[in-house]
Amino acid sequence: MRRFRADLHIHTVLSACADLEMSPAKIVRMAKDRNIDLIAVTDHNSTLHCRLVKELAEESGLNVLLGVEVTTREEVHCLAYFGDLTSLDLFQEYLGNHLPSVPYLPEKFGYQALVDRKEMIIRLFEEYLNVALDQSIDQVEQEVHRLGGLFVPAHIERQMFGIFNQLGFVPESLVCDAMGLMPQSKEAEIRIKFGINDNIPLLKASDAHTLEEIGSGVTWFELQEPTFEEIKKALGCREGRKTTTE
Ligand SMILES: [Zn+2]
Ligand SMILES: [Zn+2]
Repeated sequence: MRRFRADLHIHTVLSACADLEMSPAKIVRMAKDRNIDLIAVTDHNSTLHCRLVKELAEESGLNVLLGVEVTTREEVHCLAYFGDLTSLDLFQEYLGNHLPSVPYLPEKFGYQALVDRKEMIIRLFEEYLNVALDQSIDQVEQEVHRLGGLFVPAHIERQMFGIFNQLGFVPESLVCDAMGLMPQSKEAEIRIKFGINDNIPLLKASDAHTLEEIGSGVTWFELQEPTFEEIKKALGCREGRKTTTE
């Protein structure tokens, strides 16, 4: 079994709130510099930088999960991860069908740019991506699972957009493969505070919006090899695969 250091919550320049320097190329380089083995970029309601990140990461020997941070109708941020581009594209279609059209002022709230590997802008989005979908958290979870993905409520301890603050509880019907933690949180304290039992893994990640923040929160995965199937096993704590945050 090998240990993989993972940062699975990173924003690119496609998220209005992220720094302009957060290009896929620079993110991959910084993750390598910080000895991260496995990354996921998770932009708000868009997967459109995942392909390029996957290409660049694989070229430099870094492993990737294809990810996105969804804002549900209840304004809960939830991470979704996919193992292949076909399910990722189907989920992008779902996002497109359920994202309300909201014009915004990029000068005020930040640009949402799709860039190429040379960091040239391919497209600027004129509608705000970080708005709530017209889908409930249950509907999003079901769609992620229908497509074979992993569903992980993000930064659960956060006041803004964390599941506990937004809903007050985790609905019993909701199937969570893990729950996300902010970099500075202690796993044991969060488990006690919110009554989360040991069979739900907690994933610490940076939620990086600047290059400097990459790797500021990590989770260790113990896997035979860094594949999606193995990651699934680790989240289920099956066959000796597991995750740890401390
Ligand atoms: Zn968030
Ligand atoms: Zn985020």
